[in-house]
Amino acid sequence: MFDQNYKFTVTDRFLEYVKIDTQSDDEAAGFPTTLKQLDLSRKLVAELLELGLKDALMDDNGYVMATLPSNTTKDVPVIGFVAHVDTSPAVSGKDVKTIIHKNYQVTDIKLPGNPDAVIDVANNPDLKDMKGFDIITTDGTTLLGADDKAGIAEIMDAVNYLLAHPEIKHGTIKICFTPDEEVGRGTEKFDVAKFGAKYAYTIDGSTRGEVETETFCADAVIIDFIGKNVHPGYAKGKMINSIKMASSFIESLPKSSLTPETTEGREGYVHPITINGTEEKTTVKMIIRDFVTEKLKEYENMLEKLVKESVEKFPGARYEFKVIEQYRNMKYVLNDHPKVEEYAIEALNRLGIKPIQSAIRGGTDGAKLSFMGLPTPNLFAGGHNFHAITEWVAVQDLEAAVKLIVTLAQVWEEKS
Ligand SMILES: [Zn+2]
Repeated sequence: MFDQNYKFTVTDRFLEYVKIDTQSDDEAAGFPTTLKQLDLSRKLVAELLELGLKDALMDDNGYVMATLPSNTTKDVPVIGFVAHVDTSPAVSGKDVKTIIHKNYQVTDIKLPGNPDAVIDVANNPDLKDMKGFDIITTDGTTLLGADDKAGIAEIMDAVNYLLAHPEIKHGTIKICFTPDEEVGRGTEKFDVAKFGAKYAYTIDGSTRGEVETETFCADAVIIDFIGKNVHPGYAKGKMINSIKMASSFIESLPKSSLTPETTEGREGYVHPITINGTEEKTTVKMIIRDFVTEKLKEYENMLEKLVKESVEKFPGARYEFKVIEQYRNMKYVLNDHPKVEEYAIEALNRLGIKPIQSAIRGGTDGAKLSFMGLPTPNLFAGGHNFHAITEWVAVQDLEAAVKLIVTLAQVWEEKS
């Protein structure tokens, strides 16, 4: 049972962490993409050391790792908890001014610093479950940063709780805070062997109860349409305009299905994201998504056929078609380790929280980690409206996530 008298530290920690600007940069080539992320990472190392996690350390790439030693005689698999320090490049997370809307009564929340920023119940149905809760927002001028400082604060408080409650038995617990998740590079220099966990959980989901074990399978496709340029004044019978080839191809793409704007749930899509070119050469970049790997191949064959048909209309032209693997549905890995999901659901059930199992129409760091040998589903952190100035999180959900982490550690010990 969770100690009902425990004084949570999660909210105070969260309110401190969001004061530090940790925005990552999708244009930067270096790693980490911004050095300011490490301001938070260094603070977390100091706090972990203060809590008593003696090996807490930030490595040369900005990854914070620490170990909460086992306090049981049982042989429990080493479990990791992972969250990211950076916030989205989409919206500034500098000078965050937080507001706590206490005892919330399910009304639209107007953010005072920005007349356009309203968190309305109509577009935030989860607000209906928040009656009486305390909702944290910004003043409407910046991101809040609950993605993923909520996850960090929750892991920190769970460690604090476990240290204060030695009667709760658990195996070795590993903590990792990564940089650059928001720019898709959070696992780029993640040293899985050094981390030393057998299984892990990212605490980076949204609604209370979420257990995410499925992600998209993702490929990128790069198509070069290659024509021939000559001075337009003397081009008769010679010029082959690649821009027109690319346009013909784009026009031939499916419009009422297989597009992001016409699909949901478990449906996949093919999606052009950029087009760049001159008469000589035009490059179209596309992303291909589905929950099933074989489907990607199907879509790619279809695309190549459409490319061919467009190029054939331009005698003398040619094309190059390149597929780049991006990531795969982590379910393929997690299927071999069913306990990882089962125990998360068991922990939720013990806490009386209804598990929400959904497939993510995107990728997660956990998906990449799963294929790097560390099966890692994603659990809720409580935040909503990620990457927007209307981001919000309830204090009670922050606390629920702390309980989940603690209970999960306990379940792993009991079942081992
Ligand atoms: Zn996140």
